[in-house]
Amino acid sequence: MMRKPMVAGNWKMNKTIAEARTLVAEMTPRLRSIQEVEVVLCPPFPALFPVAALLQGTGIGLGAQNMYWEAKGAFTGEVAPGMVSEFCRYVILGHSERRTYFGETDETVNKRIQAAQAAGLAPIVCIGERLSEYESGLKDLDPARVQDLVVAYEPVWAIGTGKAATGISAEAVVHEVIRPGIARMYGDPSAQAVRVLYGGSVTAANAAEFFSQPDIDGALVGGASLKADEFIAIVQAAAK
Ligand code: PEP
Repeated sequence: MMRKPMVAGNWKMNKTIAEARTLVAEMTPRLRSIQEVEVVLCPPFPALFPVAALLQGTGIGLGAQNMYWEAKGAFTGEVAPGMVSEFCRYVILGHSERRTYFGETDETVNKRIQAAQAAGLAPIVCIGERLSEYESGLKDLDPARVQDLVVAYEPVWAIGTGKAATGISAEAVVHEVIRPGIARMYGDPSAQAVRVLYGGSVTAANAAEFFSQPDIDGALVGGASLKADEFIAIVQAAAK
């Protein structure tokens, strides 16, 4: 089963529109030549539209960092799936910062994943150390669309701390827990088709250690995605 490697940059709450334009202009000339890796940029909401325009024709994908599950209505401050899908193919859901600071639960993450699938988006679903995060977070999905899911295994203690997991320990979780869990719920072909990324303090220096693992298909990169040289070096490592 050939899964195309993916490197997704989660910019979190960083970059004004002007700063986003500068970063994208720095990165795209060097990224567009790397065809072996699917690169996805996930800027904050205000920068999505201008970044979408800059990425046209580059082959680089765009993702939002969150969305609500309702289609429209009186939900002040929220963004609907159909609004995200106007610009994006991807949406990060269930990030540990959303769970920790904004009260998201396995149940509300699951609603978001279902709504994203219905809107034709491919969710990048973040799961950490708790089994419930994938058992209840990934339940009742549209089986026909499960293959489009991207799962990001992100041990909470590794996010933004500079303390990455080891390649071997991340591989063990993906191989022994995450893929078998998806296989139980949606069958083995889906479990083999889903791309699983590692996330948590990935840098240019440690990326290759994760990418050399057979069950790890790339990375969800936070801090290091804000620096053009560092991010490009991570993408280059995934291309090898
Ligand atoms: C993340 O935000 O998903 C993440 C993994 O952050 P960092 O790379 O900064 O640890």
